[in-house]
Amino acid sequence: MSLRIRPDLDDLPVYVPGKTFPGAVKLASNEVTEGPLPSVVDAIGAAAAAVNRYPDNGMVELTAALAKSLGVTEDEVQVGCGSVILCQNLILITSGPGDEVVFGWRSFETYPLATRVAGATPVQVPLTGDLTYDLRAMADAVTDRTRLIFVCNPNNPTGTVVEATDLRDFLQSVPSDVVVALDEAYFEYLRLPSNQAYDALELRREFSNLVVLRTFSKAYGLAGLRVGYAIGDPEVITALGKVHIPFSVSSVAQAAALASLDAGEQLLARTDAVVAERARVTARLRDAGYRVPDSQANFVWLDLGAASMEFARACVDAGVVVRPFDGDGVRVTVTNTAEDDVFLRFAESWDGPRS
Ligand code: PMP
Repeated sequence: MSLRIRPDLDDLPVYVPGKTFPGAVKLASNEVTEGPLPSVVDAIGAAAAAVNRYPDNGMVELTAALAKSLGVTEDEVQVGCGSVILCQNLILITSGPGDEVVFGWRSFETYPLATRVAGATPVQVPLTGDLTYDLRAMADAVTDRTRLIFVCNPNNPTGTVVEATDLRDFLQSVPSDVVVALDEAYFEYLRLPSNQAYDALELRREFSNLVVLRTFSKAYGLAGLRVGYAIGDPEVITALGKVHIPFSVSSVAQAAALASLDAGEQLLARTDAVVAERARVTARLRDAGYRVPDSQANFVWLDLGAASMEFARACVDAGVVVRPFDGDGVRVTVTNTAEDDVFLRFAESWDGPRS
């Protein structure tokens, strides 16, 4: 039987995350290895006891806590069921058939998929030779039909960042009525020298079309509970509120996010160890002959081109799950010395092409 399902979705690929198996070292999804803190487990337990009730649809307490910690007002914050939903909802509030959504490529796979789901047209602007977002080329790609631009910084999957001055120039050069989403899912892992550092929230105050996306999935360790947030102009936040799927952020997730914010200092202190590992893993891989760009995230990128799938398959045989992107490269999460060493041992012994 042929049902009246949108034919334009026929060739849309399904999002497939890295598959894991018992006993594997999972370095495929940029998660942290540590489980939640006892205070977070307690908050989850308390919230679990009341799941016969719907969650707070307004996410009032969490929104207020986020606004306070970020130094913004509550009408500048929208919480969502993972920042992936906020990416999708930004597309929904800006774009439909005939409209264009511009982003760098390769980048976060949700951008083209969610754009297609909305019936809009993805405009993929190739990264520069050093695998960084090409903001000049992106500005040139903006047309009258452009409704939304994603800048993924650090970029998933390459880990690279744009220069602060280039970001400012870019924001100045794009039309002020086109929404620009600065996706900072890996924000907590940034360690930029002071001459390259930028403050997204300060830029947000200056450019009302800028929306900053962050998440509790990475440094805060709540990937399984799905909480992300957007910081933007009240005009954008109001629109995001309208497309928010009712009750989609569970009471357990809200409670865990609140408790994690309370323990922010302790959780963020963990990122230092990952940053140190990132430097160690990058150096070891480069010494072994791999092409690895400087990463500012909790993963590294191996620029393996055509060998990517073969490398990832062999890696699985060695007990490590990584994330290959066919024909492009392999993304490997950085976690702790023990896990990273299992991967490094494999990478250093791999007899296929390394660059
Ligand atoms: N943006 C980027 C760049 C990501 O890499 C991810 C997670 N892979 C997300 C957004 C979504 O994260 P979450 O939905 O878990 O908040």
